[in-house]
Amino acid sequence: MPSFKGHIKSKLPNVGTTIFTVMSRLALEHNAINLSQGFPDFDCAKALKDLFSKAINSGLNQYPPMAGVPVLRERVAEKMERLYGATYDPEHEITVVPGATYGIFTAIATLIRPGDEVILFEPAYDCYDPAIETVGGTSVFVPLELPDYHVDWRKVQAAITPRTRMIIMNTPHNPTASVLSAEDMRMLEGILRGTDIVVVSDEVYEHIVFDGHVHQGVSRYPGLAERSFFVSSFGKTYSVTGWKMGYVCAPKELMSEFRKVHQFNAFVACSPVQYAFAEYMKDPAPYLELAAFYQRKRDLFRQALAPSRFTLMPSRGSFFQCAGYDAISDERDTDLAVRLTKENGVCSIPVSVFYKNPRYEKVLRFCFAKSDDTLKRGAEVLCRL
Ligand code: PMP
Ligand code: GLN
Repeated sequence: MPSFKGHIKSKLPNVGTTIFTVMSRLALEHNAINLSQGFPDFDCAKALKDLFSKAINSGLNQYPPMAGVPVLRERVAEKMERLYGATYDPEHEITVVPGATYGIFTAIATLIRPGDEVILFEPAYDCYDPAIETVGGTSVFVPLELPDYHVDWRKVQAAITPRTRMIIMNTPHNPTASVLSAEDMRMLEGILRGTDIVVVSDEVYEHIVFDGHVHQGVSRYPGLAERSFFVSSFGKTYSVTGWKMGYVCAPKELMSEFRKVHQFNAFVACSPVQYAFAEYMKDPAPYLELAAFYQRKRDLFRQALAPSRFTLMPSRGSFFQCAGYDAISDERDTDLAVRLTKENGVCSIPVSVFYKNPRYEKVLRFCFAKSDDTLKRGAEVLCRL
């Protein structure tokens, strides 16, 4: 291939390969137990795979409607009503998208222009800031507060300027596994009241909230729902991260702008899988049982790590466990994560990479969406450190 001789002015000069790809690749190279990238190492339900095959074999293989197949949008609307008491019109207010990442990017591209500011919390899931940068916006970071990564709402209030167009929320939170409370949501509602600020609410772990707590998403709060893009992912809910499917719900004024951008990018999401989800979603049990399923894994992993020298932080939602390693090493988390993979055979994610200006707080993130055996073997190694 001849090389490109022109000048390229990168839109993302500081972006390399994502940490998830880097660490998963390293785990593979060193045959390490992979507790890094967030994906289940077990298979999804057979019934769901059968429905996908059935849809393919019945010829549902051409472009679906731009916003998603109607029956799936209706199922999503019923679910949002049942779970959150929120009414979204499937015709105008729900769009099926090829993954939550795409939904988040599209919402940002829909509204953000050069000079606009977007508030986000640090540590931040890795796809937000580059999306903002790609479209010329400016990220304004508000730190989450240790020891449990909670929000200091005075800092949020102080970060708002006349240029603030958007705030990105994420609960349950990746990478910290913290969750927002009803009080947090009321604070957010109060701060945004009377402004034009739009919320992009990344709720891909909406069904993975532990210890009997109820998920507090934007759709429960009319003052937030009226200004929010709610984003979820079928990948997390049904253990099919590789299918890359999600959905976005928003009031029609916001959604009609969102669809203008969506229709000239992906245009549609994969057709047969939408029919499969529509059928599978008729039974709420799989998503209602998900929290208990992962809570058991969280408890198993935490118990197995109890004799270790790690300081376990709370894991209130998502399928991540963060752990401080002050007692184990003085290394930077990025160095330690690599060394543990190469020398000890356990792979994790260093939390400092989720900061724009890395803060080395000596915390590693472990994913417990893994088989019990993998978790036990991983913890055994970590206990020897
Ligand atoms: N948001 C968060 C917080 C995530 O952890 C992930 C990764 N699963 C995504 C968005 C992306 O979801 P999807 O694979 O559906 O794009
Ligand atoms: N969300 C997953 C994680 O946090 C990874 C997704 C990805 O690889 N982009 O580990």
